[in-house]
Amino acid sequence: MPDEFQIIRGGRLLDIDARTAEFADVLIKGNAIVEIASGGLGAPEGAIEIDAADRLLMPGLVNGHTHGNSSLAKGMGDRWTLELLLNAHPWTGAGFTQEDKCLAAKLTACELVLGGCTACLDMFAEGPAPSREGLEAAGQAYMDVGMRAVVAPMMSTRGLWQAIPGLYDVLPEEMKTVADGLQAGPGATSLETCRDALHNWPHDPARVKLGLGPTIPHHCDETFWQGCRDLAREYGVLMQTHLAESKVQAVASQELYGMSLTAFLDAQGVLGPNMVAAHAIWLSTDDMHLLADRGVSVSHNPMSNLRLGSGVAATVAMRDAGINVAIGTDTCTCADALNMFEATRLACTLSRVQGPDYEQWLESAQALEMATEAGAKALGWEGEIGRIAPGYKADIVMLDLGNVSYVPLNDPVNQIVFAENSGGVREVMIDGRMVVEDGRVTTVDMEKLRADVEVAVARQEPARVAARERVESLAVHVGPFCAGFAAQDHAVNRFVG
Ligand SMILES: [Zn+2]
Repeated sequence: MPDEFQIIRGGRLLDIDARTAEFADVLIKGNAIVEIASGGLGAPEGAIEIDAADRLLMPGLVNGHTHGNSSLAKGMGDRWTLELLLNAHPWTGAGFTQEDKCLAAKLTACELVLGGCTACLDMFAEGPAPSREGLEAAGQAYMDVGMRAVVAPMMSTRGLWQAIPGLYDVLPEEMKTVADGLQAGPGATSLETCRDALHNWPHDPARVKLGLGPTIPHHCDETFWQGCRDLAREYGVLMQTHLAESKVQAVASQELYGMSLTAFLDAQGVLGPNMVAAHAIWLSTDDMHLLADRGVSVSHNPMSNLRLGSGVAATVAMRDAGINVAIGTDTCTCADALNMFEATRLACTLSRVQGPDYEQWLESAQALEMATEAGAKALGWEGEIGRIAPGYKADIVMLDLGNVSYVPLNDPVNQIVFAENSGGVREVMIDGRMVVEDGRVTTVDMEKLRADVEVAVARQEPARVAARERVESLAVHVGPFCAGFAAQDHAVNRFVG
């Protein structure tokens, strides 16, 4: 396989900038694209021929933010704000064992590749703190499915109930005891675990690499932030955090630090090109310029923002400030389908409810570029993935031009962004390997995966029942408190209506 040639013949190659899809053949050696030419490109003897007749070839989609651990909690929760979702973590993650970690990440990876996504940033959560075994298992899942991923362990030093000013104080005494029992693991232990995992990472980092995921700025103390900063520098890895996702967080930051969350992170020295800020909704113009100056990327996760009522991110203003804005799905408990086509469409259309000046709206080509090249840059793979071009890795999605969304084919970019729902995905090649063929994952026995998931969920059930009761008795305090907290005046407004 390393030097094997493959040639994809007869497909139409998407050119996002030109909004065209001309016929072209793509020659691949090993895991990389070596040559592209219109019809009849010569190939070395023995090259494997891939017939792409009736296929539209596009770069694999890059998902800037998900949580691979949550796929077994699919469909749980309805009218949840972000804070109610966080409050529910002990329930959505109840009974989650070591073997479930690989299983959940594998289910996530399968859903992503079936939706034309070839790389993701997975802020993988283990309660109460990450483990080397859990991280390696999550990484193994992506290796097994054949997908590219950055696995960034989600970590904190205080729980939701302690992190929002005044929330803990309004809990009844017995609920304080429950909240105390749900505290996050000590930061020093999490950092040692991450150092151990980074030092011994068993997977090929060109395919699956490790990062760090200090979850929410004010859920982590200053010492922990500085420890993450130093460890990320030492190992040259990415960090991801949820930045100003909800108004509650933005208001809390002013009360706690007298400054925005962005300014707080900058004071910890953690803002740099290796930081990918997820959501980034409640930012001021100054925050945007600071992120741009520091070279921070943002992952815009529109479905999650809508589902949790977090607000509408100012994607165009962020791009105008000079921020590299990628697109993400977020996870099954808040998104809920891990569908990058849906996320891209929402990114594009949500830019259009913010004002009447249509020149300020995202064009479909810009949205698609965010979902490909901008994602590649955010994940530290700029110049390697996100384009179909010589020298790039062979991460290629093939869409069925017989799908009704493309009949007739007038503008391939518009039709992908505004009409594709992943139903047109027929083949997906990642790193030169076909991981989806004829709309099915080739690397995983999906029937067995389904059976394993059902066994796991049945085993988790007693733990889920007990955890749900605890979570719901906390939710009646958390929900109203946070709604009141978020009703305070704040300099930025990202709600519509
Ligand atoms: Zn998230």
